[in-house]
Amino acid sequence: MTHSHFSEFYKKTKVERIKALLDARVIQIEDALLLFENSQLTDQLANHMIENQLTQYSLPLGVALHFLIDNQTYQVPMVTEEPSVIAAASAAAKVIAQAGGFKTHLSERKMIGQVALKDIPDLAHALEELSLNKEIILKKANNAHPSIVKRGGGADEVEFRTIPATEHSPTFLVVHVHIDVLEAMGANIVNTMMEAIASYIETLTDGKVLMSILSNYATECLATATCQIPLSLLERGDYLGEEVRDAMIEASQFAYVDPYRATTHNKGIMNGIDAVVLASGNDWRAIEAGAHAYAARSGQYRSLSIWEKADNGDLKGSLTLPLPVGFVGGSIGIHPTAQFSQRLLSLKSAKELESVIVSVGLAQNFAALRALVTEGIQKGHMGLQAKSLAISAGASGNEIEHVANELKKQTHMNLETAISILDTIKNMN
Ligand code: NDP
Repeated sequence: MTHSHFSEFYKKTKVERIKALLDARVIQIEDALLLFENSQLTDQLANHMIENQLTQYSLPLGVALHFLIDNQTYQVPMVTEEPSVIAAASAAAKVIAQAGGFKTHLSERKMIGQVALKDIPDLAHALEELSLNKEIILKKANNAHPSIVKRGGGADEVEFRTIPATEHSPTFLVVHVHIDVLEAMGANIVNTMMEAIASYIETLTDGKVLMSILSNYATECLATATCQIPLSLLERGDYLGEEVRDAMIEASQFAYVDPYRATTHNKGIMNGIDAVVLASGNDWRAIEAGAHAYAARSGQYRSLSIWEKADNGDLKGSLTLPLPVGFVGGSIGIHPTAQFSQRLLSLKSAKELESVIVSVGLAQNFAALRALVTEGIQKGHMGLQAKSLAISAGASGNEIEHVANELKKQTHMNLETAISILDTIKNMN
């Protein structure tokens, strides 16, 4: 489960880490070379991806270890600018692997397309016409993107919602179409279908179409990860397993009832989720927007995860959120590092990627809550933050470790102190 090649992985140099992945047969030699090269996108590709391209903006890609998900081990690529995120995910995954790992449950992978109408002269008549013609709506949507139907997906359900007028808005009638987008995230597929049915829907309702587009609130594409951890694995320093469990449950209850805390709680979860979404070449704004909307589904913004006591006294965690990520489409197929991420994960489908991502989110949340209710998060975080400060102060090579170690001994760890430590070191040499 935990690979011997990966022991004390964080202490290895970059070259040793790549060799360890190679020795463990997690990557092939071609990928090792790609990692050594630090390969940038070609100018041609970068120009093709966005408009007005000037240069490239780099972020580090690291690997989180020890993930056991649905009885399979994963080395998870994560792209982030924040220190501690990968260390925390790996440490949590190691504990959870010893407890049997993560179990995931995925709903169908359906996206929702919206056609929003206004100025409907007779709402009851419009709803009746729409209901009578559901099959024609589906047929027109599918005819607009026949290749997805040929692959086994396509539009298969129509729903209607009326949103009553308020003092700020007119009455809206919204047609929702559910579309199985198979291995894609599906934004383009859905938008094409929605635009294709718009005029027919206007004819049926005598209303006026305001817009036709997918919804990023992907409530028909939910992913859940769960884990169950015995008390013996929760002990930490002077804290008993039972104390850690009870405090984590209270921390979860606090995040459920307080939106100020829920926002930070969910930010911690998104630290992990965004990092994998980004590494996999997916649209992280879409995932962020959907996650936060889902967190507010009760009418109050709440925590996305829940920690509770299992019947046998273990700590039980669960996280659910919409995860409409793609295995194909967008920039996934053209971005060489996104392709590398798929190979590192030995990924076979979008569903498998959902399982990995939701598990990383739960691991991140476990690490944050456990630290918060025991020694606090600064102890682990500041070690890595010290290195960032050392680099910002101008340290290079061995100086980085040296400045960081000295910084950690100070009461106030800031850039000014880092610069002064670096000056002292330089004057000594
Ligand atoms: P694409 O249109 O790039 O790719 C999807 C296409 O891949 C399909 O239409 C299909 O084309 C092809 N394909 C090949 N194999 C499969 C398979 N097994 N399952 C499904 N499709 C397959 O991407 P998406 O439609 O997924 O859209 C994602 C992009 O849209 C992202 O870049 C996103 O940032 C962007 N976007 C997001 C919006 C939002 O979130 N609000 C809005 C607009 C754009 P074919 O069958 O013809 O081969």
